Amino acid sequence: MDPKLFRPTDGGYRWEGVAYQPYKQDGSAPFKDISRQTLFHDDSLGCELRYFEMDAAGYSTLERHEHTHAVMILRGHGQCLLGEEVRDIKPHDLITIPAWTWHQFRATDQEPMGFLCMVNMERDRPALPTEADLATMRANPVVARFLGG
Ligand code: MN
Repeated sequence: MDPKLFRPTDGGYRWEGVAYQPYKQDGSAPFKDISRQTLFHDDSLGCELRYFEMDAAGYSTLERHEHTHAVMILRGHGQCLLGEEVRDIKPHDLITIPAWTWHQFRATDQEPMGFLCMVNMERDRPALPTEADLATMRANPVVARFLGG
């Protein structure tokens, strides 16, 4: 069998033949302590399935874009921002992120949080919020509490 067809896990959210890609952090990075592994990248399906994981208290980039995401939480707990709403997240929750919806994931400070994210292979680049966008978001107290600072 082609070894690419079966790639066992090591039992620790890593997989044989899958590159572990920690995001490079600099002082201005709008994310914290997060890594990506592309589990599937398949022309015949037209999509990718990625596994993102953040350390305790880590968070993903606050962004929006034309393309959509289909997300399943795999481990850990935290919260996600989805437009004007903030939800607590737990393993096996399903989250659909529609086009042009601000979104961000945050892990609790207790444990890592990881999720699967399915995305079209052909997709636009994410847009980051301007100061004006952030001010608009922070006008909602629920969102302001989520964003912190
Ligand atoms: Mn996104």
